Amino acid sequence: MANPSNFDIVIVGGGAVGATLACALKDKNLDIALLDTREPELYDVNAEVDLRVFALSLASRRIFEAVGAWEAIAAARFSPYREMHVWDAEGEGSIHFDSAALGEPELGYIVENRLLQHALWAQLKGQPRITLLHPAQAEALTLTDEGAVLDLKGGRRLKAKLVVAADGAASATRALAGIETEDTPYGQRAVVAHVRTELPHATTAWQRFLPTGPVAFLPLADGRVSVVWSTDEAQAERILALDDAGFCAALTEASAARLGRVQSTTKRVAFPLQRLHAKEYIRPRFALAGDAAHAVHPLAGQGVNLGLLDAAALAEVITDARARGRDIGDKSVLRRYERWRKGENLTMIFALDGFKRLFSNDIAALAMVRNAGLRAVDRFTPLKHAFVRRAMGLSGDLPASAR
Ligand SMILES: Cc1cc2nc3c(=O)[nH]c(=O)nc-3n(C[C@H](O)[C@H](O)[C@H](O)COP(=O)(O)OP(=O)(O)OC[C@H]3O[C@@H](n4cnc5c(N)ncnc54)[C@H](O)[C@@H]3O)c2cc1C
Repeated sequence: MANPSNFDIVIVGGGAVGATLACALKDKNLDIALLDTREPELYDVNAEVDLRVFALSLASRRIFEAVGAWEAIAAARFSPYREMHVWDAEGEGSIHFDSAALGEPELGYIVENRLLQHALWAQLKGQPRITLLHPAQAEALTLTDEGAVLDLKGGRRLKAKLVVAADGAASATRALAGIETEDTPYGQRAVVAHVRTELPHATTAWQRFLPTGPVAFLPLADGRVSVVWSTDEAQAERILALDDAGFCAALTEASAARLGRVQSTTKRVAFPLQRLHAKEYIRPRFALAGDAAHAVHPLAGQGVNLGLLDAAALAEVITDARARGRDIGDKSVLRRYERWRKGENLTMIFALDGFKRLFSNDIAALAMVRNAGLRAVDRFTPLKHAFVRRAMGLSGDLPASAR
């Protein structure tokens, strides 16, 4: 590379989505800078399991396989889940998904965020055409037909044909590009912890819908479960203030003791929940990916899966454009990415929003309808399988690396 500040692509944000995009493009003859405000934490397989875990779809696993990161994940630790039980606290309705009935070995995988990032960055370190910059923070962005200019805090200036913002839901780069979002705060927070339960998790994901929000138990490799308890602000405060014994008792009750008593817990952390969707995904020489473009309720564990599909789709669009001698920052090239992913993401956003509204209330008539609906969907196999195949990333308009 002639000039250390001239790149084909600058990716802002080295979380799961930004790092996956860099990995997918690392062998495509492109000079790429990946920058983050912080270096990923070191991963130690003997350390406590990261409190941020993701339910990854089969499509996401395929994307990680395609970019060479899955081997390191599999060699460390993850838990597959083969079944999923979802039920309503306000009635008899329930739904059961089983990978065997779909002819698949598993429905998905529970993987730590820290491990994901570690496995992805390991693929990038030492690559001659990849520049990793951290700590680095964008301060100003100029987009013109000739190119993009990104000014970093501290005075460094980066030039690129294309800037991709993958810096999360609060994306500062999206704001620098002047892209607005539609936001709906859910008025909920997700309280997260790892707990030990009396009964084994049986490589199954469990989710009980309470009127205040869903409580999910996701299987971990060491036999514990990762809890994601979404609830209103007031209850989240109360839960966070409980001591360990009080939290275990409250969780036993919230889960209707489905896995017996909750016996012990790690510390708890809480994440605010919001629905967010960018009004545009692209500008000339600029694109959004992952949570910077859309944030969804964690009730179906879809957030990072959608973002990884963005990364794979954008890599495919960029690779195709180069093969045809096109300018990768041209709006007409990027428009294909926007049309592709906006449609797919909106379908999921509306479905998740509908679920959230249907379940997070205690209107008796609605409880009857949704319980009847759950029972009907559970019995009507084609519809049930269509739902779960979509969530697993086995249907929809998938990028080649996710198929
Ligand atoms: C409680 C909870 C549970 C969830 N469970 C699941 C699940 O089971 N399955 C699932 O698919 N999704 C889940 N999600 C959603 C998931 O966390 C997000 O979709 C995912 O983290 C988005 O990845 P990302 O790379 O787009 O953004 P992020 O993970 O937010 O990464 C953004 C990166 O950008 C960096 N950055 C931020 N600002 C700047 C800046 N100005 N300059 C440079 N770098 C910057 C950050 O340091 C970070 O490394 C859950 C979310 C929550 C809150």
